[in-house]
Amino acid sequence: MGKYIITIDQGTTSCRAFVYDEHGNCLGGRGKEFRQIYPKPGWVEHDPVEILNAQIWAIDKIIEDYNIDVSEVACIGITNQRETVVIWDRDTGHPIYNAIVWQCRRTADICESLVENGYEKTIRNKTGLVVDAYFSASKMSWILDNVEGAREKAEQGKLLAGTMDSWLIWNLTKGGSHLTDYTNASRTMLFNIDTLCWDKDLLELFDIPYSILPRVQDSAGFFGNVHKEYFGEEIPITGVAGDQQSALFGQLCFDRGMAKNTYGTGCFLLMNTGDRRIESKNRLITTIAWGLDGHITYALEGSVFVAGAAIQWLRDGIGILGNAAQSEELAMAVEDTGGVYVVPAFTGLGAPYWDMHARGTIVGISRGTNRNHIVRATLESLAYQTRDVLEAMQADSGIYLTELRVDGGASANNFLMQFQSDILDVPVTRPKNIETTAQGVAYLSGIGAGLWKDKVEIEKSWKEDRIFYPSMDGDERSHKYYNWKRAVKRSTRWSG
Ligand code: ADP
Repeated sequence: MGKYIITIDQGTTSCRAFVYDEHGNCLGGRGKEFRQIYPKPGWVEHDPVEILNAQIWAIDKIIEDYNIDVSEVACIGITNQRETVVIWDRDTGHPIYNAIVWQCRRTADICESLVENGYEKTIRNKTGLVVDAYFSASKMSWILDNVEGAREKAEQGKLLAGTMDSWLIWNLTKGGSHLTDYTNASRTMLFNIDTLCWDKDLLELFDIPYSILPRVQDSAGFFGNVHKEYFGEEIPITGVAGDQQSALFGQLCFDRGMAKNTYGTGCFLLMNTGDRRIESKNRLITTIAWGLDGHITYALEGSVFVAGAAIQWLRDGIGILGNAAQSEELAMAVEDTGGVYVVPAFTGLGAPYWDMHARGTIVGISRGTNRNHIVRATLESLAYQTRDVLEAMQADSGIYLTELRVDGGASANNFLMQFQSDILDVPVTRPKNIETTAQGVAYLSGIGAGLWKDKVEIEKSWKEDRIFYPSMDGDERSHKYYNWKRAVKRSTRWSG
């Protein structure tokens, strides 16, 4: 058996490929950005063929860069932007429309009318999701309704549909497999996360024929062979997972109650809730963390809309930072924020506030306030928002966090990580490799290919970079968090 694992990380802005050795160590990666297509305000599309080509390019490059003998590649894993959908012609392989991206709001009206017509509870019970244009179902309906002849073709079984993983699998296997995994299926709003089937009622509601959908299987297992025309040898695809679930796996959050937070443009928090799905009273999402060895693990998911984006705003919007990393030095140059709180509610507030009319607010400014205080308060806002979501998760699940694992661009900021630990009063662990999304599916595909027996074996390969322990006095923590909540109140119900 081969000794390398290749992973595909099909993200929202770039297609990347990574290579790992047989111990799960990342040797390196390559990536290529692709076009973001904005046909109208609020609409976002990608060209699926451009994505396929960029992905093949990235794999070719790592094979070249690391001088890899393809016969020594044991398997390929795929992780991908979730919810984004493509519909293509079964015979020609051509997409009938661009991919509609998760961010695209074109079907907001469809979703609003579903809520008005009382479908929210049913959809939530079946899928664990809140009714929103973000998920795939309404996007698929839109393509079938708006591309001429698409409905008839779909009814005749001439079309196939899927998320980006399915599109890549189908193409790389040259039409051999039309498959997806449980994590991706659970984001479509068509999949019943209890019965683990495409849900008949939902397919009817969104008017989507069963025949166009992929078969759903465990996240580790055989998804077909990459055709040898691509890289000279057949390579089995043996792991597939949506990006955030892959990151949860990549952070080895295998036990109930373990959680990870990714600090990117926004924050994505996922908590493993074990073999029980947990209903959220705070409009968090219940999702499938992974399917492994015939067992389903569930997760609660919550997100913060503006996290690293607030640091970008300091840099590009008001120009008080040269670069994102400089925020650490400036924040450390002052003892505290001097009573300043920044609530970066630029696009409203998500869980647990759910106030689309909230707007960004800075409170507590005095004559002594300088840019360091503002920078520090902005960084702190990432940690406060994370605590808000984690408190909602803890309340929903009754599970209390003992450690938070972190990744993403802003997790490199030591000040932020220490403050996060202080404000949560739990240790914060940052791994050496913060590319945990690609790492997760490398593990899954290694398990799927039989390189490793189980999760225990891969634990050996995970290395922490640093653990941040809480060192803030309890009264100070309570006082600061109390004031954060007061600041949030002042940002709510502002616009329109
Ligand atoms: P995404 O995948 O969402 O593009 P990344 O994980 O690449 O995000 O992280 C980039 C984000 O992290 C940017 O919004 C940037 O402002 C922020 N960021 C990067 N480095 C730092 C840092 N050292 N301190 C604070 N924020 C940072």
